[in-house]
Amino acid sequence: MRDKRPELDVEYLFCDTHKELRETYEYLARIEAYLGKPITRLSSGLGERGFDHWLKVYGNYLPAPNMRWCTRKLKIEPFEDYVGDTSVTLYVGIRADEQREGYISTKPNITPVFPFKEDGITKPDVLRIREASGVGLPEYYSWRSRSGCYFCFFQRKVEWAGLKEHHPDLFQKAKDYEKTDEGFTWAKGESLSELARPERIAQIKERDRTRKEQAAARRKPRNLAEAFGVVSEEDPDEQIGCLICHL
Ligand code: SF4
Repeated sequence: MRDKRPELDVEYLFCDTHKELRETYEYLARIEAYLGKPITRLSSGLGERGFDHWLKVYGNYLPAPNMRWCTRKLKIEPFEDYVGDTSVTLYVGIRADEQREGYISTKPNITPVFPFKEDGITKPDVLRIREASGVGLPEYYSWRSRSGCYFCFFQRKVEWAGLKEHHPDLFQKAKDYEKTDEGFTWAKGESLSELARPERIAQIKERDRTRKEQAAARRKPRNLAEAFGVVSEEDPDEQIGCLICHL
């Protein structure tokens, strides 16, 4: 947007759940340096209490793919409240190769535009743009493919293993949210205590390695990130995820 539509006075927004990784906040600072202007941080209006407050309101039910109150309370509502009744054009970074619509507002004063879809920009193009700009990739890309809350239930098992390795304190905090006796776990089918067993971690990493090898054998990598197995067009987990949460 900065380079292609310099005539527009774009305001850049980030809905802050206060549960993001340190690497995400660092990446925002890099983007701000490139943009030459600050990114407006929106939160649920409850500051640091955001997620924990809403968790209590929702009866301590952890959010899940079929009950994603977190997205509404921590992302959509803060954004729509901020916009109010002003007529705005919302530029959404959904790529041309993604099979999802992204956030579509029900408010008539918000008009969504999808510039990547319109210009046919796919993941390799996005990676190239990031590399060319000097902004590069977020540090977490070496073990995690998306931004979002550190405990996001959309992350893959191997990303949970990465969280344990890179942020053991956050992994422990995520564990503390779980109520395994009531069946509230972040990851499907197992608690984080079960997932953290060394033999289980080894199994998860081995499966991920095999998956990446099979994907790589089917096609040649098109850029550095794919060569290192950081992202994969053929990774089925890439096709799921929060409509608004993930950068
Ligand atoms: S990143 Fe995940 S946990 Fe956080 S608000 Fe989005 S969907 Fe919910």
